[in-house]
Amino acid sequence: MATPLGNLQDITLRAREVLAAVDVIAAEDTRHSQRLLDACGIGARLIPLHEHNEQAAAGQVIAHLEAGRHVALISDAGTPAVSDPGARAVARVREAGFPVVPVPGACAAVAALSAAGFTDNGFRFVGFLPPKSAARRSALEALRAESVPLVFYESPHRIAECVADLATVLEAERELVIARELTKLHEQIVRLPLASAGDWLAADENRRRGEFVLIVSGAPAREGLSPEEERVLCLLLAELPVKTAARLAATITGASRNALYAHALTLKGD
Ligand code: SAM
Repeated sequence: MATPLGNLQDITLRAREVLAAVDVIAAEDTRHSQRLLDACGIGARLIPLHEHNEQAAAGQVIAHLEAGRHVALISDAGTPAVSDPGARAVARVREAGFPVVPVPGACAAVAALSAAGFTDNGFRFVGFLPPKSAARRSALEALRAESVPLVFYESPHRIAECVADLATVLEAERELVIARELTKLHEQIVRLPLASAGDWLAADENRRRGEFVLIVSGAPAREGLSPEEERVLCLLLAELPVKTAARLAATITGASRNALYAHALTLKGD
């Protein structure tokens, strides 16, 4: 079940009711969650369930369920299993034949999207990118052609490097929403061209503090072939006649066969 991202008033009426009613609460960090329970006047028993003990803790949860007890699962903030532990435990509990009931509420990605103003039909939730720059850049390369907004989570330690990599790998004309400290005292949500995001962050160290959701607009509409489509076409053209290469490249990449054929002719100098 979901718990607040920062502002404790974001706990839902139903979440309060469920937390007060269950026998056991499996929590990512029991000390952290104790504060929420204290604020709500709830005295349930907490057990730890985090990324390092999830399998063992899932066994404990199942044992409680088998004994007829009710168990709630929470993470430190927001919705469990969304860039948080929980999914493996949920899978185990379902496999053991017990129902899993979502109690929806706060989620940083959804909160940021709701205030970002992107009008696309859909988005791609990525969560955390790899911590090292080389791996992060290749992950971004793989996402480059995605036409809908990309949603990332980032910590204050890597926000500047991450935004620098976004600006290097993705087109400068894309827009970036930086949603910082959502629901907290220093909440800040800005939307700016990706090319100027690094300068914006550098201008004030407070802007690099706290927790971040980043949303980048989708790939700009383009004419011609993408670098990947062109690469596939060139590889095939080296071995095959123009028509066959264009047909196969269309099947592999999903690009228009006519566009590939026209480009193949140009490449062959015909
Ligand atoms: N399960 C959570 C959810 O539903 O959003 C996400 C947990 S993930 C471990 C933590 C990351 O979520 C943070 O590093 C940050 O990227 C994002 N996040 C969490 N709280 C936030 C907040 N108040 N403002 C902005 N981002 C937040």
